Amino acid sequence: MTNLNYDVVIVGAGNAALCSAIAARESGASVLVLEKGPKKKRGGNSYFTDGAIRVAFDTLDDLRQVIPAMTDDMADQIVMPPYSAEKYREDFQRITQGQTDTTLSNTLIDNSLETMKWLHSHGLEFDLIYDNQSFVKDGKYHFWGGLVLKSVGRGIGLVNKLNDIATEMGVDVWYESAGTDLVQDADGKISGINVLRNGETETIGAQAVILACGSYEGSMKKRIAQMGEEWEKAILRGSEYNTGDGIDMAVAAGAVKYGDWKMGHAISTDANAPVVGDFEVPGDVFKKSSYPIGLIVNKEGKRFVDEGADYRNYTYAKYGREVLKQTDATAYHVFDGHVADLLRSEYREELCTKFESDTLEGLIDQMDIDKAAFAGTIHEYNLAVQDGDFNPQVLDGKRTVGLEVDKTNWANPISKPPFLAFPVTCGLTFAFGGVKATTGAEVVDAQDAPIPGLYAAGEMIGGLFFHNYPGGSGLASGAVFGKIAGANAGKYVG
Ligand SMILES: Cc1cc2nc3c(=O)[nH]c(=O)nc-3n(C[C@H](O)[C@H](O)[C@H](O)COP(=O)(O)OP(=O)(O)OC[C@H]3O[C@@H](n4cnc5c(N)ncnc54)[C@H](O)[C@@H]3O)c2cc1C
Repeated sequence: MTNLNYDVVIVGAGNAALCSAIAARESGASVLVLEKGPKKKRGGNSYFTDGAIRVAFDTLDDLRQVIPAMTDDMADQIVMPPYSAEKYREDFQRITQGQTDTTLSNTLIDNSLETMKWLHSHGLEFDLIYDNQSFVKDGKYHFWGGLVLKSVGRGIGLVNKLNDIATEMGVDVWYESAGTDLVQDADGKISGINVLRNGETETIGAQAVILACGSYEGSMKKRIAQMGEEWEKAILRGSEYNTGDGIDMAVAAGAVKYGDWKMGHAISTDANAPVVGDFEVPGDVFKKSSYPIGLIVNKEGKRFVDEGADYRNYTYAKYGREVLKQTDATAYHVFDGHVADLLRSEYREELCTKFESDTLEGLIDQMDIDKAAFAGTIHEYNLAVQDGDFNPQVLDGKRTVGLEVDKTNWANPISKPPFLAFPVTCGLTFAFGGVKATTGAEVVDAQDAPIPGLYAAGEMIGGLFFHNYPGGSGLASGAVFGKIAGANAGKYVG
């Protein structure tokens, strides 16, 4: 029989929601999770990830606390530079051009590893990202870039395990159940939520509601209104269900919009990827992120960004937007035999669209591009490449000189077979806009006063990301603020 009263109702069933469900249940509250999608489409954007999670740590031993299967022998094969909280802060500041709300981002950073330990204590499994974040030298794995930890089994493993943990703890989950409106008492305190289920609206009584139902990237109308008309052409990499419902509900209850409402995380993705995330193809299989060691060329045959400006973690989220501006929102990632063996694993995925030839002319023939202009671009680029030691693990300064758009690191000539081209388009990952919340995940009103009983987590919280985003901090944010929201909601109803 349906129980129509819970202490805490959580809207959404992605990473942030499930972390908050576990924390709220841990504090003794009765918890209901509402998922708008059917069971086979549960888990939101979190389901589509590769599970990469950015945490601050000082030593490999810090990470081994969540990877107990790593033996001393395995650890001896690993060279792991520290990724301190200070470095994480610097990255946040640099990438968001100083606009991140530091009270929020510091909370994320300072709780990142502890939150993974907490999840691990509940049974979540982690491993290092050997394939894309390390290279082998002298028989050892050398990690780089700070983003080194992942949940086992990609996003699908993460979502399934979090669901198992939550349901074993006694959390109820309703599918095909969309939260539509918050119910407040005369003092503005949350007293419940309206839910659309089986075509009917029912009211669930609740002392606290945690909104963890993503941003608005899944709504074409809101996307165009907030981010601009060109975003109609972007494909949606993740869940179709994140249509800003939580933001609308919160704002109707007195919350204020917060953060970067003009921008989202967008990357280069396979030109033939589904136009919305396909739950039958989990994992981040369509992304394309090896461009720092190659070139990006548009249909006019021209380069338009410095592919080597920085490590991919710090440019991939903004270069997707640059692809959106090109003709047909299309470009090509171009590589040759100098780097073919160094391409990230996604370039070898079965579903990857690829052109390959032993000659540059043979490659050009296959591409839908201004062929003469492209050949000219490659010729000019090759002449501009300077001598130097190519080293993809550091900003090697091996660059071009004298081009309209120079490539400032990792510049090799395109001259050695095989010649490779991968058509890409812009894939929108998530919108940065959300609502304002405290470091305790309480949603606040225009006077910065918490709305009693209302919490938010994950993409719903605005103010963390502006312009761009440090890869792996989306899941970290969902877990950290999810845990905080759940614990605080549990205390509030306690
Ligand atoms: C392809 C892809 C790869 C990514 N890779 C990474 C990565 O490796 N590392 C990383 O840190 N980040 C990654 N991200 C970003 C990351 O997925 C998000 O930042 C994060 O998962 C957001 O978590 P969330 O819980 O806030 O939202 P979501 O996981 O999107 O969950 C939102 C949930 O709310 C539900 N919902 C929406 N509206 C309602 C409603 N009205 N009622 C009930 N339920 C509702 C949705 O169905 C969904 O289940 C990736 C994203 C994509 C799309």
